Amino acid sequence: MNCLITGGAGFIGSHLAELFLARGARVSVIDNLSTGRVANIAHLLDNPNFHFARADITDEVVLDRLASQCDLIVHLAAAVGVKLIVEHPVHTIETNVMGTEAVLKAALRYRCRVLIASTSEVYGKGSRIPFREDDDVLLGATRHSRWAYAASKMVDEFLGLAYQREYDLPVTLFRLFNTVGPRQTGRYGMVIPRLVKQALRNEPLTVYGDGTQRRCFCDVRDAIRAIAGLAEHPEVSGQVFNIGGTEETTIQGLAERVLAITASSARIIHIPYSEAYAPGFEDMLRRVPDITRVGALIGWSPSITLDETLASVRDHFRSSPDVDV
Ligand code: UDP
Repeated sequence: MNCLITGGAGFIGSHLAELFLARGARVSVIDNLSTGRVANIAHLLDNPNFHFARADITDEVVLDRLASQCDLIVHLAAAVGVKLIVEHPVHTIETNVMGTEAVLKAALRYRCRVLIASTSEVYGKGSRIPFREDDDVLLGATRHSRWAYAASKMVDEFLGLAYQREYDLPVTLFRLFNTVGPRQTGRYGMVIPRLVKQALRNEPLTVYGDGTQRRCFCDVRDAIRAIAGLAEHPEVSGQVFNIGGTEETTIQGLAERVLAITASSARIIHIPYSEAYAPGFEDMLRRVPDITRVGALIGWSPSITLDETLASVRDHFRSSPDVDV
C-alpha cells in the first residue's frame, strides 16, 4: 500500500504513519508544521519507506505529485482544538474547508481512496446518549465561533460524500471522539496533556466550569487501529464511522486520576468557561460515541484503559520535559 497522510507530523498522523510502516506500507506525509512537529516523526525520517514533505495541503504542485504516487489518502490535516478555533476562526474555516477540497480534487485525478477525519463536534449540542452516525445534529448560533469548527467539518463530510456519490470516488469519513495519548500537546487546549503537565510541575490543575462535564477518551493507539482497519477494508466507501472510547469520566474525576497517577500534591482549581475560552462559550455536558458500526465491520473496540493512557502521557512528558504545553 502506498499511503499519503496529510497532517502526518501531528499527534494522530505520526502514530498512524508508524502503524502503516509497521504493516509494510510506504508512507508519505504532507504537513506544514503549523501544529505538527518534526519531533513527532524524527525517528521515521531515515526509513526508506517514509517520505516527508513540508508543505500546505493547498500547495497544488506538491499535493498533486504525492497523490499521483499513492493509492490511499488519510486526510488528517486540519485546524485543531477548541481553543485555536475560538481564537482563530478564519484560519479554522479556511484550513478545514479549502484543505479538504484540495485533497478531494487531487484524489479524483488519480482515483485514490480517501479517508477523511471528522470530529464528534459535528454532533454539536445533541443530547442523545450515545451518538449514532446517522443522528440529527444541532449546532449553536453562528455568533459563537466554536461552532465554526463543527460546521466546517460538516462541510468536509458533505463534500467527501458528494465526491463519492457524484464521481464514484471511494471516500470514507471517520469521526474522532477525544483522542488522547503521548505526543498530544496542550497548546491548543486539550485537557489531558494540560492536566498531566500541570500535575508534574505541581501547578494547579485547571478544571473548566464545575467539572461535571463528561467525556469518553480514546487512546490514540486504539484510534489508529480503527483507522487502519477502515483503510484496509474493501467496503467502506460512502460510509461514516464513529471512533471513540467507551469509558466515561467527569473532568473533575479526570483531574483526580491525574493527581493519583503522577503522585502530585497540586491543587485542583475551577475556572469559569468565560475566562477559559470566551464569554458565551458553550461546552458539551456529555459526549458518548456509539461504536457499533465500526465494531461490527472490522471487529474493533478500544482496549487501552484511561489509567494506562494517563500513565503513558505522564511517561512521555517525563522523558521529554522540554515539550512545550
Ligand atoms: N478542559 C478543562 N481544563 C483544561 C482544558 C479543557 O477542564 O485545561 C475541559 C473542557 O472544557 C472540556 C473537556 O475538558 O469540557 C475536554 O476538553 P478538550 O479541549 O480536551 O476536548 P473537547 O471535548 O472540548 O473537544
